[in-house]
Amino acid sequence: MNKKVTPTSLICPECGNISKIWRSTNKQKEMYHKKKLYCVICKKEINHIELKDIDFFIAGLKFKEELTEEEIKIKTLIKKRGE
Ligand SMILES: [Zn+2]
Repeated sequence: MNKKVTPTSLICPECGNISKIWRSTNKQKEMYHKKKLYCVICKKEINHIELKDIDFFIAGLKFKEELTEEEIKIKTLIKKRGE
């Protein structure tokens, strides 16, 4: 079997911890899709926010002049982690 998978990053909405999962390429979800994952920092299951390629996302934030509500929220979360 030759199944294609693509990595995707999901961020915890409480502590900003990032979890990476692999998803079938033909089953990709849209940006900001919510997925319930276990956060190792919060030690509970919580709806994470899908960001797909996190490096690409962070780089993109730096060049944007106007951020959407979701982008501002996630930028704050990333800062929380000390990046
Ligand atoms: Zn967390």
